[in-house]
Amino acid sequence: MPPELQQLHARIRACTLCGLHATRTQAVPGTGPSPAEIMIVGEAPGFNEDVQGQPFVGAAGKLLDTLLAQIGLSRQQVFITNVLKCRPPQNRDPMPNEAEACLPYLRQQFALVRPKAVLILGRHALERMLPGVGTISRVHGQIFMRSGVAFMPCYHPAAALHNGGLLSDLQHDFDRVRQYLDRLLVEPPGEAQAAAAEPQPQAGEPAAEPEAEQLPLI
Ligand code: URA
Repeated sequence: MPPELQQLHARIRACTLCGLHATRTQAVPGTGPSPAEIMIVGEAPGFNEDVQGQPFVGAAGKLLDTLLAQIGLSRQQVFITNVLKCRPPQNRDPMPNEAEACLPYLRQQFALVRPKAVLILGRHALERMLPGVGTISRVHGQIFMRSGVAFMPCYHPAAALHNGGLLSDLQHDFDRVRQYLDRLLVEPPGEAQAAAAEPQPQAGEPAAEPEAEQLPLI
């Protein structure tokens, strides 16, 4: 991990910007190579992540590993983090002031990791990263291009663990990620991005507007 990212993660571990620092065991800045082609952003650390200091190491993390393996990727190839770097007590939903306090860290990680594709896991990360594009049930599996980076909302693995019916949707979302990466490898970036930016409506639903919102990350 390059020194700038190490320094950022040291600042995150020492952060006291919101009340979650008082209840956390430790902050969970994120893991993975930098730069990395793929960045994965979840909601917030849970019990296991808070104890181990690593993102996605519990049941949802196991499913994430399986989904990545199914599209030929390993955890070592992707940078994984969350919108919130500290666990909310009892895994409650992130509060707006917590997300506001924490988002500058995600922005700095994004700038340092320089991903080509960002997987947005679940509705909380979606609300923060692509505000206004629609609900996760409507836009999962679609690709939103922002300044040359593909943002791909997917259901959260934990949602699929609660509701097995979402698993095939989630696998399909990851297949779309693979397809996009494959296109990026064989086509010049401009063409792959133009193709990816074409609206990808769900059956019977209008497509979300590509480029409708400026991503607050960049
Ligand atoms: N769920 C998340 O959103 N992030 C984690 O790190 C673990 C579970």
